[in-house]
Amino acid sequence: MNIILLGPPGAGKGTQAKILQERYHIGQIATGDMLRAEVKAGSELGKVAKAIMEAGELVPDDLIITMLRHRLAQPDCQHGFILDGFPRTVPQAEALDAMLASQKQDLRAVILLKVDEDVLVDRIAGRFSCAKCGASYHDVMHPTIKAGICDKCGATEFVHRPDDNPTTVKQRFTAYNNQTAPIVPYYQGKHIYYEVDGMADMNDVTAAIEAALRKAGVAAPSAAAAD
Ligand code: ADP
Ligand code: ADP
Ligand code: ZN
Repeated sequence: MNIILLGPPGAGKGTQAKILQERYHIGQIATGDMLRAEVKAGSELGKVAKAIMEAGELVPDDLIITMLRHRLAQPDCQHGFILDGFPRTVPQAEALDAMLASQKQDLRAVILLKVDEDVLVDRIAGRFSCAKCGASYHDVMHPTIKAGICDKCGATEFVHRPDDNPTTVKQRFTAYNNQTAPIVPYYQGKHIYYEVDGMADMNDVTAAIEAALRKAGVAAPSAAAAD
């Protein structure tokens, strides 16, 4: 089962993808996380991507498509994946369809998380994550249970993304509205497109995504069946 989570910066894609990953036992592929790892490693791609990400613009399609092609060729992707942060342009959406078709795979659902821009600004301003395991938190809306200690792994180091500053965020919204929003009609025409209210509480957003997945014919996850 292959799923795409779409939505503007701060919509909750990463948060929900991590929950779905555990419940449905399929891998999360977050192109932003992959790019940040490339930047950290100082690779050729990382060197190119760093300045673009700091400016809040999109990394060129050919680079990002090549990166994703390599990722999708790995064995763990053959059993399904959740894409978070890809595609972000119509050419990326087209390239993904071609890649999946060549592997005799398809998309089960494309889910848009809808969130108003003023809420996105607050979410991004308070976002931080665990430096060790990457678990994502929010100062007010999703703090760690014990102050200063990661719920997931117990680490005590946290990071704020350098691109989560007001100037860059503004540019990222512009990139989303101009380059990413146009992929919605691309998927609407394919009858695999669902919209979810991303303004709700995290658990309610998860429930709404699972309802959309049921409509798409995906069986309830084993954890829910056991409840
Ligand atoms: P994205 O991956 O779409 O950029 P994140 O999943 O990183 O978004 O979420 C952005 C911030 O908002 C994080 O700090 C996260 O903890 C918080 N967040 C995510 N979903 C919700 C929600 N439904 N309600 C309140 N805060 C949320
Ligand atoms: P967010 O969670 O806030 O939506 P991401 O972590 O997905 O942000 O992406 C961070 C940055 O990485 C983007 O602003 C962009 O510069 C780059 N990036 C990530 N995915 C893509 C993509 N599919 N195409 C182009 N650039 C991308
Ligand atoms: Zn952690």
